[in-house]
Amino acid sequence: MYVRDDPNNPGDVIDQANEAAALFLGDALAGAKRKAEAERLALGEPGWHCLFCDAELIELGRFCGTDCSADWQREQDAKRRNIKVSG
Ligand SMILES: [Zn+2]
Repeated sequence: MYVRDDPNNPGDVIDQANEAAALFLGDALAGAKRKAEAERLALGEPGWHCLFCDAELIELGRFCGTDCSADWQREQDAKRRNIKVSG
């Protein structure tokens, strides 16, 4: 979760700052875990071919490089946006 200004609780600025600092670290880890889990669900188990360009991989994985990973992610984001817009 991201820390946002809470209009119902305007007094706890320092608490919020400490919390935000703690959350930032925890959030980064949790975010990475969530992302990995979401990726696993979306992509399935790692395989031997790039999911984006279908190139053969030299080790078990999902993408041949960060370019394909980024392009794939962009595509997923676009799909998600389209779903949201139409739905
Ligand atoms: Zn690729």
